[in-house]
Amino acid sequence: MTIANIKTRFAPSPTGFLHLGNVRTALFSALLARRWQGIFLLRIEDTDRERSRAEYVDALLDDLRWLGLQWQEGPERGGPQAPYAQSEREAIYEEYYGQLEDTGRIYPCFCTPTELTVSRKAQLAAGRPPRYSGTCARLSPADRRARLERGLSPSLRFQVPNGQTVEFTDLVRGPQRFASDDIGDFVIRRADGTPQFFFANAVDDALMGVTHVLRGEDHLTNTPRQVLLLEALGLPVPHYGHLALIVGSDGGPLSKRSGDLSVRELRAQGYLPEVLLNYLARLGHSYEQDTWLNVNELAAGFSPDHLGRAPARFDEAHLLHWQAEGVQRATYEQLWDWVGTGVRDQVPEEVTEAFIATVRPNIRFPADALFWAERFFGVELARSVESETAITAAGSGFFGHALAAYDQYGADYPALTANLRERTGLKGKPLFMPLRAALTGETHGPELARILALLPAETIRRRLQACC
Ligand code: GLU
Repeated sequence: MTIANIKTRFAPSPTGFLHLGNVRTALFSALLARRWQGIFLLRIEDTDRERSRAEYVDALLDDLRWLGLQWQEGPERGGPQAPYAQSEREAIYEEYYGQLEDTGRIYPCFCTPTELTVSRKAQLAAGRPPRYSGTCARLSPADRRARLERGLSPSLRFQVPNGQTVEFTDLVRGPQRFASDDIGDFVIRRADGTPQFFFANAVDDALMGVTHVLRGEDHLTNTPRQVLLLEALGLPVPHYGHLALIVGSDGGPLSKRSGDLSVRELRAQGYLPEVLLNYLARLGHSYEQDTWLNVNELAAGFSPDHLGRAPARFDEAHLLHWQAEGVQRATYEQLWDWVGTGVRDQVPEEVTEAFIATVRPNIRFPADALFWAERFFGVELARSVESETAITAAGSGFFGHALAAYDQYGADYPALTANLRERTGLKGKPLFMPLRAALTGETHGPELARILALLPAETIRRRLQACC
C-alpha cells in the first residue's frame, strides 16, 4: 500500500496544556504524514471563546516543537489555507452557512437551554435516546420572522435527513454504520454566532485538504454528523481513524493519579523528547522492533493497521525504561544542558565531560545527576548510614594504606587497588566498598575507577584522611 499526497492534521482546542492523550494523537498524525512524505498540518480550534487562551496556544506550539513534531502548515508557518486558527475563519464559515441555507438544509432554532434540558430529561425518562425534538424545524416562516423581529438570536441547526444510513470505513475500527434517524438535528452555529465543533472542524478539514484524520475514539459518534454535513456541502470527506483511548495504570480513566501528566510536567521532570516519542508511539500502536527508534524510523514503521482497538494502558515502568535508554543515547551536549544549573554550577569546568561519562549509566533524571554532583564536588560530604558502617568495619588502618597507595599511584585505578590489596590482604567487596564509601559517602554508584579520576586529588586525600 502506498498513500500519495497525504495530509494529516492535529487540531487541538487551546483550553489546557497538552497531555499524554492528545500529544499521542499529534504524534500518530505526524508519523503518518512523514511515513508517506506528506504534510502534517496544525490547526487551532479556538471557537470556545470562554475557555480558549492564548497562553495555551503558545504552550502547545512550544511543546510540539520541543518534541520535534514540526508542522509544515499552520500557525507561525502559514500555508495555502491560512489562517489556521478557527477564531480567524468566521468569514469563511459564513459562506458555508449561506450555502446550507440556500439549499434548505439548516433552520434557526430559538429553543432556550432550559427548554432543551427539559426535553432531554423527558426523553431519557421515557427510555429514549435524547435527540433534538425538532420543535423549531416545524416553525412556519411567519413564526420565524416574528421571533427574529422580537430580537431573539437563534442558533442554526442542520436538518438531518430521515431514513438514511451513514457508512464509512474507519482506519482503525473498520466498517461503521449509523442510522440517520438516531441523530437529532444538531447545532452548527451557536446563538452567539460562533461555529460549533462539528461544523468548523469538518469544513476546515475539507477546505484544508486533509486526507487522513486520526483522533480520539470519543469523536466516533460525531463522525456521521460530519459526513452528512460535508455531503450536504459537496465537500470531500477525509478518511477517519478513531484511536482507542489511553487508560490509567489502574485501568480506569487516565487521571493525574494514574499517571496522566502534561508534556510540560514531563519535560520539567527531565523526560527527554525522544523518550516520549518512543514510548507514545508504542502506546496503542505496535512496532516490529522493540528497540529504540529515531523519529524517521518511528515514521517508517507506522501504519494505521498497527493501531489497536483496545484501550492502551499507561505504564510508568515502560516510560522509565525508555528514559534510561534515552539517557544512554543522548549526546554529551544534550545531557550537559539537561542536568540544569545546580549541576553546572558545581562541576569544575575541566571535568564536565568526564562527569557526564561517569554518571551517565547511573542517572535517569537531572535530580540524579545533581545527587552525584553534590557527592563528588560538595564541600561537606553527607555519608549514608551504610557507608558509615562500611568505613567503621574497614577500620582506620585501611584508609592509611589507601592514602599511601594513592600517593604512590594516583588515579591509576588498577595499580592503586593492586597495591592496596597487597598492603591489606583484602580483595573484592571488603576492598572496594570502604573506598567507595569514603570517597562518595555511598555504597553504590558509578564506576569507582572513573570516580577516582574525576575527583580532585585534594578531595580524595581529604576524604581518605577523614576516615583514618
Ligand atoms: N478540537 C478537537 C479536540 O481537541 C479536535 C477533534 C478532532 O481531532 O477532530 O478534541
